[in-house]
Amino acid sequence: MNIIKKISVLQKLALGFKQKRKTIGFVPTMGFLHEGHLSLIRKARKENDIVIVSIFVNPVQFGPNEDFKIYPRNIKKDISLSRPLCDILFMPSREQMYPKEFSTFARVKGLSDHLCGCSRKNHFTGVATVVCKLFNIVLPDNVYFGQKDFQQAVIIARMIKDLNFALHLKVLPIVREKDGLAMSSRNVFLSRQERKDAVVLFQALKSAQRLVANNVKDSAKIIKMLQDFISHKESARVDYIKIVDKTTLESIKRVGKEALLALAVYVGNVRLIDNVVLKAKNEK
Ligand code: AMP
Repeated sequence: MNIIKKISVLQKLALGFKQKRKTIGFVPTMGFLHEGHLSLIRKARKENDIVIVSIFVNPVQFGPNEDFKIYPRNIKKDISLSRPLCDILFMPSREQMYPKEFSTFARVKGLSDHLCGCSRKNHFTGVATVVCKLFNIVLPDNVYFGQKDFQQAVIIARMIKDLNFALHLKVLPIVREKDGLAMSSRNVFLSRQERKDAVVLFQALKSAQRLVANNVKDSAKIIKMLQDFISHKESARVDYIKIVDKTTLESIKRVGKEALLALAVYVGNVRLIDNVVLKAKNEK
């Protein structure tokens, strides 16, 4: 595995791979790798000649009161986890990615304002901008994202179409801990008690699926029940619970054939997100 820190070096290598008709699979991450990230990297390994993983904690996608400074980092462990699976680990510095005069941003209108966009104002502009830059540096044929960040995947899909990136987007299922908690780099911030309480997110999603299976389709009713359920945990505070259309991310009043149930919940000071697709029977 080759560790590269300079944009120009990686771009040149990527162009070389293209000339040799080698396919490039790309997995962008913020590091502190876990099984969720590794599931994407393994899939990329299976489907491409060359696998490139990036680790970059992107300052532009964090708000002023968010956890950029304390975001978990463990480069040594990340290198040892990715070494057997990838060809190139790209770890650019902040200065490489955002030189002083940097002034161009990619904003995906509409989609960025729903769900997490309500409480994290410029977050998705930061995400779209860094992903756009990374696509231009890595020149991938296939890119791998997790359904864990469902809204992010929808926004990137829109950007790929709108800006005519010639690549395929693959969105892979959420990898969970044994008790159902979605794997996340931020889980490390949870105290022992908070870690136990955090399973409430998954339990809430599961209970919503049961409600829908039992023909409860009214979004407000489902959301109210989940809110009550989550508020029983002392350490949990709901940021949002929403039932939305999977493609527009706009709220829907009634669960039709398929809908996305997405939530963000603070457990202690840690903001966790999770989601599930609700499927109603006998619906078109
Ligand atoms: P991050 O490092 O958190 O920015 O995540 C990098 C990529 O890994 C994103 O596409 C995430 O959606 C994906 N990812 C993070 N957690 C999980 C998970 N538990 N299961 C599947 N994919 C995940």
